[in-house]
Amino acid sequence: MRLLLVEDDPDLASITRADLVRAGFAVDMADNGIDGEHLGSHEPYDAIILDLGLPGRPGLDVLKSWRERDNRVPVIVLTARDQWFERVDGFKAGADDYLGKPFHIEELIARLRALIHREHGRSANTLETASVRLDEDLQQVQVGDDQAHELTGTEFRLLRYMMLNSGKILSKSNLSDHVYDQNSERDSNLIEVYVRRLREKIGAQMILTKRGQGYVFNDPSR
Ligand code: CA
Repeated sequence: MRLLLVEDDPDLASITRADLVRAGFAVDMADNGIDGEHLGSHEPYDAIILDLGLPGRPGLDVLKSWRERDNRVPVIVLTARDQWFERVDGFKAGADDYLGKPFHIEELIARLRALIHREHGRSANTLETASVRLDEDLQQVQVGDDQAHELTGTEFRLLRYMMLNSGKILSKSNLSDHVYDQNSERDSNLIEVYVRRLREKIGAQMILTKRGQGYVFNDPSR
């Protein structure tokens, strides 16, 4: 899952980004409304965290402009804790959720997860198929009753994205777009390497190759 964090407070932004990366997200950042609006319009984010008080362009205007252009990316707005009217304005402008500052990172991560799962039509807050269970807190995968496998950061991001999109054909460039942030080296051959490693951990039959098109996470229960 790839996120955009639009926040002008440099300390808050860098701490939040580090926590989100640790939690298994690829994260791009913008410290003003103009860059934030541009990135949010042009990059395929899975969710955006948007501060409302921003230099360049206010967060509410940024959000309205995305929605006017039918950009339906899930957005969580960051509001001042006791300013209830900011929350109302945020929802009116098209926000999906809000979080009052200061916030606990655990709450932000839980809200992001719920929002992203809902976006992919999942009501449960866990990611599991008939045989594969992904623990998003521990970043481990378990197949049947076998022992759980630890996943590296990239393996976890890749598997989570594939499981959320199970049954769909995912091209290597689509996978790169959602697994790496904009500053990462984008080599689609790397995706092949990570798919091979995931197959070793969860079984080759779980990830099918569609020649010339990409990969499909094979979930017979969906
Ligand atoms: Ca601010």
